[in-house]
Amino acid sequence: MHNQTLKALSEALANGQVSSEELTRHYLERIAQHDPQLNSFITVTQEQAMTQARAADQHRAAGKATPLTGIPIAHKDIFCTQGVKTSCASRMLDNFIAPYDATVVAQLAAAGVVTLGKTNMDEFAMGSSNETSFYGPVNNPWDTDYVPGGSSGGSAAAVAARLAPAATGTDTGGSIRQPASLCGITGLKPTYGRVSRWGMIAFASSLDQAGPMTQTAEDAALLLNAMAGFDHRDSTSTDIEVPDFTADLNRPLDGLRIGLPKEFFDQGLDAEVGAVVQAAIAQYEKLGATLVDIELPNTHLSIPAYYVVAPAEASSNLSRYDGVRFGYRCADPMDLEDLYKRSRGEGFGDEVKRRILIGTYALSAGYYDAYYLKAQKARRLIKNDFDAAFQQVDVIMGPTSPNAGFKLGEKAADPVSMYLSDIYTISVNMAGLPGISIPAGMSQGRPVGLQIIGNYFDEARLLNVAHRYQQETDWHAQLPAAFA
Ligand code: GLN
Repeated sequence: MHNQTLKALSEALANGQVSSEELTRHYLERIAQHDPQLNSFITVTQEQAMTQARAADQHRAAGKATPLTGIPIAHKDIFCTQGVKTSCASRMLDNFIAPYDATVVAQLAAAGVVTLGKTNMDEFAMGSSNETSFYGPVNNPWDTDYVPGGSSGGSAAAVAARLAPAATGTDTGGSIRQPASLCGITGLKPTYGRVSRWGMIAFASSLDQAGPMTQTAEDAALLLNAMAGFDHRDSTSTDIEVPDFTADLNRPLDGLRIGLPKEFFDQGLDAEVGAVVQAAIAQYEKLGATLVDIELPNTHLSIPAYYVVAPAEASSNLSRYDGVRFGYRCADPMDLEDLYKRSRGEGFGDEVKRRILIGTYALSAGYYDAYYLKAQKARRLIKNDFDAAFQQVDVIMGPTSPNAGFKLGEKAADPVSMYLSDIYTISVNMAGLPGISIPAGMSQGRPVGLQIIGNYFDEARLLNVAHRYQQETDWHAQLPAAFA
């Protein structure tokens, strides 16, 4: 059953081959059996899942089913879930039970999905390896000595090991696409503003965006249909029509213009990963696409600018964790200042503290112009590069990650080398564009992702381009042997 895509499970539910109760029980059993090797879940909501599954079956019997009714999925532990621990993988929120559902969670629940639990992640979504979690690292199902990527590493590992048919993730600088690449699944980061951020614990508000993590592009389209849409409670949510993302999946690719940025194929790219990506691009030529060499000359500014903008926003967003209103509070504070200092000192991990320090510094009087303002100017140049490129091409392709992953602990002591993991993904967030990573091959037994970047609100095209490739190849259907 777990070898099936979400689409196939949806059909099996519709024609009565399986009930949501059976399906949900099957995945809960898989989690119990296999998650000890992966640590991909922080919380498993067993009882709630079974209750939701029974309700979904009743809904279906009453003739009120949607394509997602009764499908079990997992949520990244960054999304508030009413009555369920929502930790953001931080000691700071280890005791936090969310009093409401995030819009993404509520919309998926309204469409009938069943929540299996909350997935592990880097603390406050800061990281590319899932090693900064308060609950310990996640292992990559393809090789448990390797990281699954991050920050949505738990969601990626859970879907790759088929402990859930799909999961939600969030992407501030690559956190959906990079773990999708390293775990061999499909991960879509929508256009900034496409999906509501309400109830999603904030890291860097001008960059954060939620998206689906699935086996296939078709599954991503089904989930995005329920996730997307204007939300008056998120002031940066865009009031724009939401198409049926499944409608154009089969559109032929004849005449599709694919831009290949020379900056994405430079010396920082692992040779085997580069070869996999080139082979995928050749497949697109066979499907009728034409290749166009392009330049994104300000790509080199994306990491330095991101590591000013994102920490600046994080330092502001994380100031709410003060030990007073909610979250961790230190024992026996001497006075208010001691309460603040020790609660934050003990509640946050090292990477989070590093970001708060960088961000507070960059925003301080006297440095604001030199760092923050300058980074915002670089951000505009990065966006301008993409605007110029999309005058000539329909989509842009390249690698998602510069390598096929790294071992647990390998980069933990070197934050800058970790930051370089997102060299091909961060500029997409800086510009607010949509991007998808799809499995395109293997390198030394580990998956390699192809990244496809689209113009604003062109998710339907990205999903179409990804889907056509998945019709011709079966990289997305491969499953790590230990979890077959
Ligand atoms: N790895 C990047 C960071 O550490 C991006 C994380 C993300 O997208 N949430 O900030």
